[in-house]
Amino acid sequence: AYYSEKLKQKLFNFDDEILKPYFKLENVLNGAFTIAEKLFGITFKEVFDIDKYHEDVQTFEVLDFEGELVAIFYSDFFPRKGKRNGAWMTSYKSQAVKNGINERPHVSIVCNFTPPTETKPSLLTFNEVTTLFHEFGHALHGMLANTTYPSLSGTSVYWDFVELPSQVMENWCYEPEALALFAKHYETGEIIPQEYVEKIKESASFLEGMATLRQLSFGILDMTYHGKSQTIADVKAFEKQAMEGTSLYPDVAENCMSTSFSHIFQGGYSSGYYSYKWAEVLDADAFAYFQEKGIFNKEVATKFKDNVLSKGGTELPMELYKKFRGQEPKADALLKRAGLL
Ligand SMILES: [Zn+2]
Repeated sequence: AYYSEKLKQKLFNFDDEILKPYFKLENVLNGAFTIAEKLFGITFKEVFDIDKYHEDVQTFEVLDFEGELVAIFYSDFFPRKGKRNGAWMTSYKSQAVKNGINERPHVSIVCNFTPPTETKPSLLTFNEVTTLFHEFGHALHGMLANTTYPSLSGTSVYWDFVELPSQVMENWCYEPEALALFAKHYETGEIIPQEYVEKIKESASFLEGMATLRQLSFGILDMTYHGKSQTIADVKAFEKQAMEGTSLYPDVAENCMSTSFSHIFQGGYSSGYYSYKWAEVLDADAFAYFQEKGIFNKEVATKFKDNVLSKGGTELPMELYKKFRGQEPKADALLKRAGLL
């Protein structure tokens, strides 16, 4: 990690500090709202009469074009004492139909960004920008839900399908047409230079071949353990054999791969670790459809909303995906995006 970071600096010669002024939190959030409006026809209006658990929390009414309530959206962006690290989406109330009434959801995204100071607004790293879009994608899945039962609503889908709406939203962060909407210098208002956009794109696939193999090896090891009932006499030999086809470098004898891979034994993955990579296949293939027709194409967005975002877990993921895309997902778009094709 140390040397790859050094190499990255040398090859691309730019870092977070150069980009941060273009990513003022308010602008990025408004960018996400504008993109959701262009794609799915919903608008966000901040409201001040909703009870909230902390003064940092902002509340928004989400309306459709007819002015009907779609959801209440909460955001909670800054760290504070007692708040958990990381970023996530959660819902306080799921969408459901009760006594003939379509109860609209209350959805929240929570992050831990650098708070503003008296002289400087909250400026995000590019990684934080994609994090915001990621959680916002989960939030859209919750907010646009339109099912009968709360247990099948929004993000209540199979494990390997839940990251499609979140990861697909990240793709807009790399598109000049989308960046022009929100990536404006917080002091000068200048739109992020094309040169920086190119660098963001180029550096996104830096060492992607290695990362891909690594991710595949984890998924394969997990499935090899949990795929069938078996007696394992020698963990090291078992692990080595399972990962042979995806290992680039000679094995380090002292490496305790299996024992340190907590996801697959205590994290609940148990043969589901592959879903990280599978979600990338889905999101790249889905976004390729947008790119083909235009990243703000209403028709594709509506198909995505009607067949994926609104359906929750009411149908099998592959059926929903095919209704959206017209065909099963292929890995080509992911390989291309990763610079491997
Ligand atoms: Zn996620």
